[in-house]
Amino acid sequence: MNTAKILDLKKILTAPKKVVIVPHKNPDGDAMGSTLGLYHYLKKLGHSTTVIAPNDYPEFLKWIPGTDEVLIYETETSSSETFIEQADLIFTLDFNALHRCGAMESPIKNAEAIKVMIDHHQQPDDYATFVYSDVSMCSTCEMVYHFIDKMGDLDLIDIAIGEALYTGIMTDTASFRFPLTTSTTHRVIAHLIDVGIEKSNIHNAVYDTNSFGRLQLMGCALNNLKYIEDFHTAYISLTNKELDTHNFQKGDTEGLVNYGLSLKGAKFAVIFIEHKQERIIKISFRSKGTFDVNSFARTHFDGGGHKNASGGRSTLNLEDTIAKFISILSDYKSELDS
Ligand code: 5GP
Ligand code: MN
Repeated sequence: MNTAKILDLKKILTAPKKVVIVPHKNPDGDAMGSTLGLYHYLKKLGHSTTVIAPNDYPEFLKWIPGTDEVLIYETETSSSETFIEQADLIFTLDFNALHRCGAMESPIKNAEAIKVMIDHHQQPDDYATFVYSDVSMCSTCEMVYHFIDKMGDLDLIDIAIGEALYTGIMTDTASFRFPLTTSTTHRVIAHLIDVGIEKSNIHNAVYDTNSFGRLQLMGCALNNLKYIEDFHTAYISLTNKELDTHNFQKGDTEGLVNYGLSLKGAKFAVIFIEHKQERIIKISFRSKGTFDVNSFARTHFDGGGHKNASGGRSTLNLEDTIAKFISILSDYKSELDS
């Protein structure tokens, strides 16, 4: 978003507005952190602001300040639709195409509100009047910080905003280790610490609140790990039955795909998860180095995301999905070897 656009948006936001903020479906730490961080900021500016998530999100994020005020579209559909219809502005955060917010796609499309996109995924769709898209950003949370800066309001950042934004920067960078973590990211974090956030509590709340079932599921996932040395590729699969056995709760499979990438020599890691209810196999792709998993997911599995982290789906059964995946790999041998 250039300076002229920021000034336009700033002008719109000089009078109190009705604002709705939306993360993507199956919201993760960055989606909830960025929407709630922006929520606290816009409330401070005097706007009537509501965060509406397409569906529920993991328990380990339900301590973020403002959580109690979040509406869930899937279960609170009619009140959510009233907010969407009446909104002056709709901010869509941490996604690049409206279908990424599931059943909220059509109410948002039909809403008269001015749309604002803040996002760091590749190849953004063109549905918003105001687009702040930057694929070099480690997280949408860092972008919300820069957005507040562009608005000239860094002094408004408080503990609630800081804790929300820290959460998404931490989760999307895997605790500040992924390549897009820059010195600027660390300066943003330094500011949030100076404001007074308790960062150890945030790490504990997100990473050290595993249920027994989740740790057992992790054991099952690691037991199912396969490695195809020729293609430097590791993959994990989880059946619906395995999820049930370990009392699967939303968020339990988050991050499991990264274990494949921790294998010495692995450049490409994948997890296939059977979702019986939705009748799909949900797939997460991760890579190290130059192998582009955004392009891989877009080309073969109806998905997308970032160069080193993407997701997709398959309507084949688990076995056939994995067979299809393995058959495709040989087309990428030279890329995976380089
Ligand atoms: P995850 O594997 O953690 O679900 O997603 C990894 C990244 O890819 C996230 O940034 C997520 O937003 C994106 N992503 C996941 N699934 C999809 C999908 O089906 N389509 C697109 N375009 N992006 C996805
Ligand atoms: Mn993100």
